[in-house]
Amino acid sequence: MPKKGHMGTPKQAYATDGGKGDVAAGSTVTASAIASSYDDQIRPLLDAVDRLRHLKVTQEGIQLPTIVVVGDQSSGKSSVLESLAGISLPRGQGICTRVPLVMRLQDDPSADSPKLQLEYSNGRVVTTTEADVADAINAATAEIAGSGKGISDAPITLVVRKRGVPDLTLVDLPGITRVPVHGQPEDIYDQVAKIIKEYIAPKESIILNVLSATVDFPTCESIRMSQQVDRSGERTLAVVTKVDKNPEGLLEKVTMDDVNIGLGYVCVRNRIGDETYDQARVEEERLFKYHPLLSKIDKDMVGIPVLANRLMQIQSTIIAKCLPDIVKQINDRLSRSSAELDQMPQDLNNVADAVRVFFHIVKQVCNSLEKLLVRGDFAEYPDAREFHGTARIADMLSGYAKELPAQCPINRNEPFLMEEVRILEETKGINLPNFLPRTAFLVLLKKKVQIIDVIPQELANKVWDYVEDLVMKVLLKHSENFPQMQSPCRRAVQTLMDKARLRSAHHVKELIAMELVADYTANPDYMKTWTEIMEGYEMFMEAVEDKSKPTRITLKGFGEVDVSHLRVYADFAGKAFDLRARLTAYWKSIVLRQVDGLALHVLLSVKLLVEKDLEEELGNELLSNKLAGVEKMLAPSPGTGTKRERLKKSIVLLRQSKEVVANIMDRISAAGDI
Ligand code: GDP
Ligand code: MG
Repeated sequence: MPKKGHMGTPKQAYATDGGKGDVAAGSTVTASAIASSYDDQIRPLLDAVDRLRHLKVTQEGIQLPTIVVVGDQSSGKSSVLESLAGISLPRGQGICTRVPLVMRLQDDPSADSPKLQLEYSNGRVVTTTEADVADAINAATAEIAGSGKGISDAPITLVVRKRGVPDLTLVDLPGITRVPVHGQPEDIYDQVAKIIKEYIAPKESIILNVLSATVDFPTCESIRMSQQVDRSGERTLAVVTKVDKNPEGLLEKVTMDDVNIGLGYVCVRNRIGDETYDQARVEEERLFKYHPLLSKIDKDMVGIPVLANRLMQIQSTIIAKCLPDIVKQINDRLSRSSAELDQMPQDLNNVADAVRVFFHIVKQVCNSLEKLLVRGDFAEYPDAREFHGTARIADMLSGYAKELPAQCPINRNEPFLMEEVRILEETKGINLPNFLPRTAFLVLLKKKVQIIDVIPQELANKVWDYVEDLVMKVLLKHSENFPQMQSPCRRAVQTLMDKARLRSAHHVKELIAMELVADYTANPDYMKTWTEIMEGYEMFMEAVEDKSKPTRITLKGFGEVDVSHLRVYADFAGKAFDLRARLTAYWKSIVLRQVDGLALHVLLSVKLLVEKDLEEELGNELLSNKLAGVEKMLAPSPGTGTKRERLKKSIVLLRQSKEVVANIMDRISAAGDI
């Protein structure tokens, strides 16, 4: 029998004593050519993946093509692995496999006797023998998962170098059990299910579902679980064990395929009792050849040698398929980790270092803030609306302009012009009757302005609350690597904001006070509006003075009004009308001045803040007191240290992995036919 195969027809790995009648290899190709092709192409691929597994690239979130053995408890998983490897594994009642067992089978023609090695718990390597391997695995399991019945997801790797074994890497997982047996933890099902899911969920995993012929397949928990992650079954292969125990109806079960097994079924008979492996293979072959029911099953679907070859074929296909993506993932992660490490702050060794870093951070903060609050450049935070300072302040200002009454506020409950009449009565002086007293206007103006004077103050508060929040966020972001400097920075920002609030309050007060000091505007709109309103003056006076005229009239600027109550105040009516006309026209100028004045003040203050005051205040807080603030930055921050270590480790691992795959990719492209 030829010993090796090529890519399409994998090496005929399993040499049985019976030897005859199992899957035919490419008999037309010379054995040595096939052997070299296998050694040249498949072996290095397997080695590369195994080395990656050994390097633990999965810790970096890179999934490796893996054959995962799942099955209900006592379905025969360990027995199948034993049959493939030809060695004894812990077998027995209840849950024996309590941690994932990565089994690496390597054909070693030079090995006179099997060479076994156990690797676990971060690099522990134990050499063992065929006779002791079961005990060694049990001891390692106890070390990882305790001596009770607990389970763990930390794997043990068993390397088996032996003549004639198939080159395969498989992972044996704890069996699924619904009901905890004596001594097992209550949540054993959930624990096992979690480990299994972790291994079978990645699309790079091939699921080897071990089913006992003695059970109804659709009721198997392992079927239910693999269907959750592989509905179509395209990466599931079924192995049916214990065919000797229940041969009835097996042919129907595997041909009907009620449970959607995409990669097909292989029926096997494992070693029973004290049989040797070789005897077991002979018995298996005899069983499938002569048993009245089992012999009817297609020869492509029976026996451990067929299983071994199917698995090798599947394995090389999936490795070849996944490798380019793995290369890409390694490169992506490597550049991401390197970039992240580059961005980490350097170690600070002395105060000079710290001062330099401090100024750098301040510069970055002021830069960012200048973009956000002055220039309106949001490239740094394209999607975070709350960071778009200029736009948010503009929103606040336009809200403010809307909040200020566009018309001069009047008391709607009072009859037309009565407010003006009362003020005129009180301010009448000893002067000509047609003289409009200026004090009357100023008294009225003051009353109106006082109605609105809280609004600009509220706006100023709102703006500074927002700016404070934004400055803090930007500052925290740029100083995240130095948490020690954040509390003095916070203090500096607060001091600064208190000052800014005070300055604005002062400015707002002044704006209001200015309105009261004099009635003045150069705005031509004032005269225009006043003249327009005054066009109704004559009509108004007529309605007041001529008792034959209707008292309801419509006036430009005031709408429909009733003037009947003014007839008794005929002396003041004209002046009251003029007063209202002036105030109405003047109000527009007041609102404009308030909005513009405050808007420009806010913009200027914000600009000064980011261009000058912030830097100064941060400097005061951190550099004063003999640089006490920046000195704090020298204290190592535990978070940063751990992160740096993690990144460095990850980079080393990824570089090694990259080398592994680079070698293999070179060989593949040199061979040119994968
Ligand atoms: P696991 O819990 O899935 O790992 O199952 P084991 O491999 O420990 O097997 C459970 C029991 O079934 C053991 O006693 C095995 O000897 C037995 N067994 C496994 N495969 C076969 C088989 O093909 N035929 C028979 N008769 N017994 C088997
Ligand atoms: Mg087992």
